[in-house]
Amino acid sequence: MIGWGDSKKPFSNLARRQVEGEMTAKFKKQHEQLESEHKRLTEEFAQLQTTASSTDERREGSPFGKREEEATETLELEKRLALENRLRQELAKIEHALEKIEKGTYGLCDNCGQPIDPERLEALPQASLCMNCKAQLAKNAKVSPPPR
Ligand SMILES: [Zn+2]
Repeated sequence: MIGWGDSKKPFSNLARRQVEGEMTAKFKKQHEQLESEHKRLTEEFAQLQTTASSTDERREGSPFGKREEEATETLELEKRLALENRLRQELAKIEHALEKIEKGTYGLCDNCGQPIDPERLEALPQASLCMNCKAQLAKNAKVSPPPR
């Protein structure tokens, strides 16, 4: 595709769309996986919200065992928030990957721009970092305090 950009053709938009199409075709499987995963997580997220409101309704109608129930509810709430956060993070990753497919940068590492191992993309379609950068970031993330 590089090399025919100097002649300003009027249908350059069309050409661009073709490139995007190739991109989607190349990662068709990942694209489908990401779409269905996105749908599944969105549904799970919605379900979580529904469950949350029904718990609130139930609370009003129970006159005894209040303290114990409150403790349980706090725990439930914490669990729900943790799950909600996890879902939100997963969704963000998947949306990011879908965006990369649209932009034509899918399969390239966010950090160094090198192609991500196709096997890694097979196993984890939402991966946005190559193994090297992933390992590097993980190492930086858990900087252990110096031993005494
Ligand atoms: Zn990288």
